Amino acid sequence: MMYDLARVERQHLANNKGPVFSLIRKRCACGKASTAKQLTQHGKCAACSLAAVRATIMPGDFAKLQHMLGAVQQYPKCKWGWRNYFAAGSGQQHEAMQRLVAAGLATAGRACGDMTYFYATRMGCKAAGLDAAGIKRAMGTDDEPS
Ligand SMILES: [Zn+2]
Repeated sequence: MMYDLARVERQHLANNKGPVFSLIRKRCACGKASTAKQLTQHGKCAACSLAAVRATIMPGDFAKLQHMLGAVQQYPKCKWGWRNYFAAGSGQQHEAMQRLVAAGLATAGRACGDMTYFYATRMGCKAAGLDAAGIKRAMGTDDEPS
């Protein structure tokens, strides 16, 4: 029996036809399905993007990012994002923040003496495990602390 690849492919395409073009399912290099929009913007699926970002920072940096957002165990997850700043001194703390900035997870704010305030970006919020409400909370209250 002949296996009609072309026909299978046509059926496959027909099945994948969706009403929203940007949501056409494509595959990341890892094999996971992703949206065309995500792949165009980032070149990989969300999980791979996050893994790539995490690979550029140190484990201790990630803990600082979570601390920055209050995304730590002593607060319930629904409260995460209640804060979004990290006052870094010079030295190790500052180096950690610079790595977060380089990875696109944080951004530098004003300096105050030898302290510099850093804030998590939207991607930083996502990486720290905040949900949509948490990200809104963290990004909506981006006024610098007084
Ligand atoms: Zn992937």
